[in-house]
Amino acid sequence: MSSPVRSLPVMQNWDCQSCGDCCRTLEGVITEEEKRRIEGLIPAGDPEFPPGPWFAPKGRGSGKWSLTHRPSGGCVFLTADNRCGIQKRFGAEAKPFACRLFPFLLIPAGDHWRVGMRFSCPSVAANIGRPVAEAKEDLAGFSRLLEKHVGRSADSAQAPAAEGGQQLSWPDVCRVVQVLAEIVEDRGDRLERRLRKCLAVVRIGRQTQWNNLSGHKVTKFVQAVRGAMEAEVPREPADLPPPDRLLGGIPFRALLAIYARKDRDLYGASRLLRRPGRVLAGWRFIRGRGRVPRVNPFLPDVRFDEVERAEGMPSELDETLERYYLVKLSSLQFCGPPNFDMSLWAGLESLIATLPMILWLRRAFRDQPPAQAIERAIQTVDNHFGGNPMLGLPHVRYLVRLLAERGELEKLIAWYSR
Ligand code: SF4
Repeated sequence: MSSPVRSLPVMQNWDCQSCGDCCRTLEGVITEEEKRRIEGLIPAGDPEFPPGPWFAPKGRGSGKWSLTHRPSGGCVFLTADNRCGIQKRFGAEAKPFACRLFPFLLIPAGDHWRVGMRFSCPSVAANIGRPVAEAKEDLAGFSRLLEKHVGRSADSAQAPAAEGGQQLSWPDVCRVVQVLAEIVEDRGDRLERRLRKCLAVVRIGRQTQWNNLSGHKVTKFVQAVRGAMEAEVPREPADLPPPDRLLGGIPFRALLAIYARKDRDLYGASRLLRRPGRVLAGWRFIRGRGRVPRVNPFLPDVRFDEVERAEGMPSELDETLERYYLVKLSSLQFCGPPNFDMSLWAGLESLIATLPMILWLRRAFRDQPPAQAIERAIQTVDNHFGGNPMLGLPHVRYLVRLLAERGELEKLIAWYSR
């Protein structure tokens, strides 16, 4: 009996616009069975398909594969008219499961699957298409395929740890997240203050002994913390001091050097350090002076000081950010297996840390209209969130912890919102 699919994002729309972007950046896992099935479908020497190899091993002896990409960046099966060659000839069911599921994510949450979405898809970021709620049946079918694909059900994943080895149950994790989602939905505040409030709740959550709390007590406790934060969290961005140049600015830009990139070698983290150009670009980000390295084709010619001086966030952009953070929160994509097995609190901090990155990039995309710039910034950041192995490295995770622990994260959020 397969587990049900819940938490469909009600505010989110999507339809594939066949832009082919995912066929240039997605590096899904292909199983041995899928590889053999696709190889069996395509007759040798078929002129409609390029000569092999079509698959590259993902680690020695893992039995897992990835699709090879052309030197220009596209998947080996991407056709000249930006379509999937396998789907065109054999139908959508013939595609690898990872490609069929995109831009959805199905996240195990005990007795059900939760639905996440990849905002690296331009159509998701721009909220184009039919309400995602209409995809419920398709997603139920995908969940059954996923159970078959990975050979385990939604209840085989353990709930993410809290702090110091404490363990909350899946329902209690969902209760904490529900209160945080209510904070993000509360339009009485600008979005930036809503996330600063979430951060304050996370700080208390880290210091709490959860062993004696469960069920409705969890909800009551987190709601009480939320109420207390109303007076605690500064109302306006200008009420917070600027980030510390050393403790805030440097770790922030070190993370930005990862998040700002957009290229087809996105997940080739092992190659990243071998490329002197990339190391140099990373160093220039950390330095934060002069021209911003063009690590992203959408970055115009802009200087770091111009980004710092750019004007604040128009309030109408809050809605796009609200949608992004609500989908990420309610899907639980920020912790556990979808985010490098991070604990509940570390995962929340890593999610909240994406806001100053998005706000920085929104300013840097200064040649684009504001609505397009914020969507592009979300797309860029979400390309990495939970997927780029660099973000799972201990020293990179430590940078996020450092920013949160020293109170620099809220200053950065306020600074780039002012
Ligand atoms: S990135 Fe999104 S819109 Fe573009 S082809 Fe992929 S799923 Fe479709």
